[in-house]
Amino acid sequence: MKEKVQAAWNKRPLVISGPCSAETEEQLVATAQQLAATGKVDILRAGIWKPRTKPGMFEGIGAKGLPWLQKAKELTGLPTAAEVATAKQVEDALTFDVDVLWIGARTTVNPFSVQEVADALRGVDVPVLIKNPINPDLELWSGAVERVARAGIKQIGLIHRGFSSYGNTEYRNAPMWHLAIEMKRRNPGMLIVNDPSHICGRRDILQETAQRAIDLDFDGVMIESHIDPDKAWSDAKQQVTPERLGEMISSIIWRKEDV
Ligand code: PEP
Ligand code: MN
Repeated sequence: MKEKVQAAWNKRPLVISGPCSAETEEQLVATAQQLAATGKVDILRAGIWKPRTKPGMFEGIGAKGLPWLQKAKELTGLPTAAEVATAKQVEDALTFDVDVLWIGARTTVNPFSVQEVADALRGVDVPVLIKNPINPDLELWSGAVERVARAGIKQIGLIHRGFSSYGNTEYRNAPMWHLAIEMKRRNPGMLIVNDPSHICGRRDILQETAQRAIDLDFDGVMIESHIDPDKAWSDAKQQVTPERLGEMISSIIWRKEDV
């Protein structure tokens, strides 16, 4: 693996940020530059293909956004991460040098899809993050980790993004912290980051949720950011400006050994 990506992967606390979706080249590049300017971000994330719950919504810019991500990396030096859900998406992402791939919550639930992604990763040296499935099923989460590991991927990390439940709650996705803690116990030493953006679904409780994760010994966070959050094409309510992201990262009390 490239040294720079390895260094980012091993960084503690690990901070991953960027827009829910890549929308335009300008939006992605400007977000990346502002994030880089904070000096608080280790990996730039952007959704290229978006698994939306219902049809008719913005379903991601698609492969056309990959050169934008590459440009953002060239301009900022930040390694990049994107979600992949099919073999073709893996192939396209790797063609455009995406440094870290992640499997989304709606993919982790489906063993056929996870296996397809895992097969596409065989023989590839790329770190892979695996989000918890949308339903609170640790066996599915573990199964996805096993499928990716059996494909020969050495660098595997976990993302805790909360679990769907019916009806309105304080959270968009219930954190069910005990499940993340149990997953950590089952995978000692495996990187685990918290994704307060998809847990909270709103900005005002992001920081306290991220803090809770750090207090529970998580290795870092993935937080969505956008140059103009209210105008975001997806997940507008939960995104923050790069400036706010920087402030939040500075205000979190990190594990002593990490700072
Ligand atoms: C995302 O990270 O933008 C995303 C779609 O997340 P999740 O898979 O957690 O819903
Ligand atoms: Mn999102």
